[in-house]
Amino acid sequence: MGNKRVLIVGNGGREHALAWKLAQSPEIERLFVAPGNAGTVLWNVPIPAQDISELVKFALKEKIDLTLVGPEDPLSAGIVDAFLEAGLRIFGPTQAAAELEGSKSFAKSIMESAKIPTAKWATFEESEQAKDYVRTIGAPCVLKADGLAAGKGVIVAMDLETALRGVDEIMDGGFGSAGKKLVIEEFLEGQEVSLLCFCDGVAARPMVPVQDHKRALEGDLGLNTGGMGTYSPPPIWTTEMGTKVMRDIVFPTLRVMSERGTPFQGVLFLGLMLTEQGPKLLEYNVRFGDPETQVVMKRLKSDLLPLLWACTEGRVSEVMPEWNEEEVAVCVVMAAPGYPLAYAKGVPIHLPELKGQDTVIFHAGTGISEGQLVSTGGRVLGITAEGQTLEEARKKAYALVDQIQFPKAHFRRDIGVKGL
Ligand code: AMP
Repeated sequence: MGNKRVLIVGNGGREHALAWKLAQSPEIERLFVAPGNAGTVLWNVPIPAQDISELVKFALKEKIDLTLVGPEDPLSAGIVDAFLEAGLRIFGPTQAAAELEGSKSFAKSIMESAKIPTAKWATFEESEQAKDYVRTIGAPCVLKADGLAAGKGVIVAMDLETALRGVDEIMDGGFGSAGKKLVIEEFLEGQEVSLLCFCDGVAARPMVPVQDHKRALEGDLGLNTGGMGTYSPPPIWTTEMGTKVMRDIVFPTLRVMSERGTPFQGVLFLGLMLTEQGPKLLEYNVRFGDPETQVVMKRLKSDLLPLLWACTEGRVSEVMPEWNEEEVAVCVVMAAPGYPLAYAKGVPIHLPELKGQDTVIFHAGTGISEGQLVSTGGRVLGITAEGQTLEEARKKAYALVDQIQFPKAHFRRDIGVKGL
């Protein structure tokens, strides 16, 4: 056992996956998750992820060596700044750097300064001007609320009427302060891939590429969700794309962020569209993705702790993450009945005993009530499996899904089918 005390902030499937991985580190003495879920129950501390001052107090009292932040909200609220001020080591971007996710118009201005390939866009604060612009460019086009809207502030309008209505939906209060400013974008066509990178402010190391399934229903139909499943690697991705994305997107972003005095340390998560003209950047996120992290951690061979540590010391170029290159990983999200609309809570769940190392059940919205495992959120479990091929990984994941007793759970049967 090592001597490092580590705190993970958050309570989703992403945080369980990070805790699962860190718990295997020989450098760890003790792990804490605030507030965690039923999957991280061994390590849980009852402090909400938004309660920054309590988290700082806890970290000081428990002599935490490194804190790792899962969700975007505490990052945008300045958790990293507060920890640094208290002399605590923390992995993640400052409030100023987290603007890359917190504001779409800020992200676009950085893309412009860094000459990053992205969709053409314009920003509006007045709905009549926005509508005139929509009429000029026509449909399809994409409307984005400027601020954080929990993945729901984007309208992909395939016709003019939807686009004009969308301007009102976003700007007339439906999205609160997030919708005061509106970004209107050119529609891009292609397959989407997520690439997460460990960043130390100057340099970066990419993780393995992932494909997400954002829509609620099979065949990419239905409402947008936080993510219904992932797999890695997507066969459409090539080594050349990886090199190009690092050269043309990641490093220029880090350079511009540094030059403006807001260097980016933490996970830079690129939402990419693979267009006929090459990869273009749709958006930045400033943290590990959920459910991307579940497959990324399953495929990570190296110890995670030294990678995070190196980022906090500006030494990421001295470490090289190793991956299970031969393996494909799939994560199928099991959600509550009704998700992503109003959903049931408190559904009792029974999990089977796992055999071997190929599968893992990551908890998200789970809790324990009177000794019984129950659902507490929308996305409840992330059934993750590894295989030598995508077919094999899918087979293992769904075999496990079928053994889980979770009445009326909502999940997709086609996670990873895009890659077959
Ligand atoms: P974002 O939050 O910016 O990633 O947008 C959410 C989703 O909307 C993306 O995952 C895409 O599926 C879609 N989207 C965003 N921007 C565009 C675009 N310019 N062209 C086509 N689809 C887009």
